[in-house]
Formats: sequence, C-alpha cells, structure tokens
Amino acid sequence: MTVVAVYVLDSRARGAGSLDESVREVDPRMPVLSVLDAGATRGDGVFETVGVMDGRPQSLEAHLERLARSAALLDIPAPDLELWRLASMTAAQRVPNGVQGALKLVLTRGSEGSDEPTGWLAASVVGDQAERRDGIRVVTLDRGLSTAAAQLPWLLAGAKTLSYAVNMAALREARRRGADDVVFVSSDGFVLEGPTSSVVARFGDRIVTPDPGIGILAGTSQSSAFEFFSNRGLATEYSRLRAEQLPASDALCLVSSVRLAAPVVSLDGAPRTVDPLTEPLNDWLLGRRE
Ligand code: PLP
Repeated sequence: MTVVAVYVLDSRARGAGSLDESVREVDPRMPVLSVLDAGATRGDGVFETVGVMDGRPQSLEAHLERLARSAALLDIPAPDLELWRLASMTAAQRVPNGVQGALKLVLTRGSEGSDEPTGWLAASVVGDQAERRDGIRVVTLDRGLSTAAAQLPWLLAGAKTLSYAVNMAALREARRRGADDVVFVSSDGFVLEGPTSSVVARFGDRIVTPDPGIGILAGTSQSSAFEFFSNRGLATEYSRLRAEQLPASDALCLVSSVRLAAPVVSLDGAPRTVDPLTEPLNDWLLGRRE
C-alpha cells in the first residue's frame, strides 16, 4: 500500500460542507497526530476502509452510514457526513485510473482533555490482491465471547473500532498454524466473521452470511455480494450458522472492501472447492461505480 494523499478534517465543521474551510491536505510524511490522541493511546475511535476504482469510492454511502453508526455506539459526536463524503470523493481522485485504491477514514475521540474528535482520511494505491485469485487457507479460532455479547453495549459489538490488536493477533496465530486467515467462532459455537472480513458460504443455491445481530460487523462488501448473487437468481440469507455447518458448505469465501472475495481453499486443513462464481463476483465488485 502506498499512501498518495492525506487530509485532516475539522471536527467542528457542521453542515457547511465547504471543503476549503474544513479539510486540509497534509504531507503524508509529516506527523499530524498528537501523542495525547485517544485513537493512538487507547484505540478509542472508529474507522472505515473504502475501496477505490477509477478514482471513485465504492459503496461510499454504506461506509459513511457505518462510520456514523460506529461513532454513535462509542458516544463520539456525530461526524458531518457531507464533509466526509466530499473529502472522500476528492481523495479518491488522487488514485490513478485503472489501479485499485483504498481510503482509510479515521475518527477518534480526540486528544485527552479536549471534546473535539480527530478526523483524517488517507488515500492509497493498493498492490496486487493475489488472494482473490489464489485463495486463502483458513483456520477457525474461538473468539472467547458468546453471541450474548451482542446484548452488552459496552462491548461495542458491531462498531468498527480502532481496537484491532486482537484481530491482528488472530491473523498471526493463523500464520503460526500454517494458514492465511481466520474465521472467528463464538464460545457458544456460532460462526462470526474474519478479523478483517465477512464470511459468505454457499449451500447449493443458497448464499448465507452470519446475521450481524449476533455481534459482528455488517459488511458492505457482503451486502454488494448478495446483490450480485440475487441478480443471478440465487437466494441470499442472513442466519445463524453453527461452526459444524461450515464444512458442509459447497464453497466459502471471506469478503472485504479491498481484497474483495477471497475464496477459501482449505478450512482447518481440509481442502475446499472454489465456487466458479468467485471470479465473476470479483470482476463485478471491482467494476462498481458507486
Ligand atoms: N468484519 C470485520 C471485523 C472487518 O474488519 C471488516 C472489514 O475490514 C469486515 C467484516 C468487512 O467489511 P467491509 O465489507 O465493509 O469491508
């Protein structure tokens, strides 16, 4: 990933929607964050990663809505979405046509002692996403929380917080086990999500993803993938999937905004077949203009 542009947003801006006054471009090599910022010292903030193709952010509205939902769950003042939208469209244009890019939108609680959230947005060019083509080896790992965690608001289930140290540790554990990625399972035995992706499983003509109500992130790419599958006449379904049902699926993939659909080629060491629709799905996801 190569950062091509960084913008800092003025958190006090409200409704003006004026890019010049409220958004400042900064040199990506220069420090801009205070050492007192709660995003850095406590992971106390929220973020979004948005795919970019041909200078346009993909599924931007879904990402902005989720940013606002995540902020509300953390009691961070509501972001001015019009400003974030304008900044995102501007930043995405810095990614050259014909290459894939990403926007990272970050909103933190701000510096200790201040009531002002910190917001910034970085645009990057992303490298070849070989896993989309070659597939991934996945292990299931216990997330150590039951689906009842979804009912405990202080656990922030469903918020995309900056606190990803556990997710990154799970990915390192996968590597130690000779795999590339993880499917988290709840302590009461339900399939949750990947550390940075949603789980999408095919059972015959049914495409199933775990219901976000069990305390996982509502995936924007999974939602787009459902659109792709239902356009092809397949049934799509949000449901509770028990871990022992996963090996019985016909195909599995992990989907997210930049890697898109990564087909699972082995699950806990057992080889898996890849859905022939994976490649057309990825072409369709990459070709989205909105
Ligand atoms: N679940 C988690 C925990 C994630 O971090 C992500 C993306 O980073 C996703 C699901 C997939 O979300 P999206 O498709 O909106 O990128």
